Amino acid sequence: MSIRPRVPRFLCSAVLFWGHCARRFLSARAIQRAIRRREFRMVYQPIVALDTLAFSGVEALVRWHRPGRGGVPPDRFIPVAESRGLMAELTRHILDLVARDAVSLGLGAQHRLAVNISGSYLATQAFAEDIRRFMGRLGPDRPVVVLELTERECLPDSPLVRHNMAQARALGALWSLDDFGTGHNSLACLDRFPVDHLKIDRSYIRGIGTGSIRAVVLDTLIDLARRLNLAVVSEGIETEAQAAYLRDRGVALGQGYLFAKPLEAADLAAWR
Ligand code: C2E
Ligand code: CA
Ligand code: CA
Repeated sequence: MSIRPRVPRFLCSAVLFWGHCARRFLSARAIQRAIRRREFRMVYQPIVALDTLAFSGVEALVRWHRPGRGGVPPDRFIPVAESRGLMAELTRHILDLVARDAVSLGLGAQHRLAVNISGSYLATQAFAEDIRRFMGRLGPDRPVVVLELTERECLPDSPLVRHNMAQARALGALWSLDDFGTGHNSLACLDRFPVDHLKIDRSYIRGIGTGSIRAVVLDTLIDLARRLNLAVVSEGIETEAQAAYLRDRGVALGQGYLFAKPLEAADLAAWR
């Protein structure tokens, strides 16, 4: 008869819980190390004209593959980078990755290249110079750079923020308010920061055809954009019915799994 040593159950639970926390916990140092080790890469989701389905550009989305631990979704590490004051460093690295991919993306002046910009980065001294350098690296036939402003925290209405927005616009960039209709990216924000596009959050697109109040709000948001003369881009389009609904209401541009998932730069040419 073998005698198996009995490990107290509470100890097992503690070890499992510790392992769970260690996997979930992300430190600022881990993000900075990943930048140095070049563990981040970019993928690009096609944006199409909803009426003709013509390719109109891409949104750049960051990916992090931690060796030995697998992929970490941006929804997990971007909030950590924001709360630890790392967004300037991380976005500068992202802009460098996008600029390196620019040739293989094969975008021309008729296309758009959307990049996500968090409010905390927009409120830094280096922002305008970083964008100038980034746009310079895209060359003379560069696509229209669209800066998608996402605020998780309420953006300070400071002279620096206004100056940075104006500088980017003077360079030829357009501003889009991302995740419109959620959190802080709502009417108050629109009033304070002049933008060119509204990007309607995919939670509203999911509401299409469900009879939920979200569908009613979606109609109101599209109408609002029309009255303010702002172009609307919809994200998260997954079904033909959603695309048709948006097309019927005059929404010009869209992206979502119905058309394409985010792709490696090298795979974009084949998709087009
Ligand atoms: P977002 O800017 O709203 O980006 C859209 C998200 O929806 C992306 O998730 C994209 O992969 C996903 N998506 C696209 N089409 C569909 C669809 O049809 N169905 C569904 N269910 N999802 C779809 P992702 O790449 O995981 O990014 C999540 C968020 O992380 C982004 O939301 C953005 O806020 C942030 N993020 C991603 N890349 C960057 C970046 O380079 N810089 C910054 N500052 N934030 C980023
Ligand atoms: Ca976005
Ligand atoms: Ca969104």
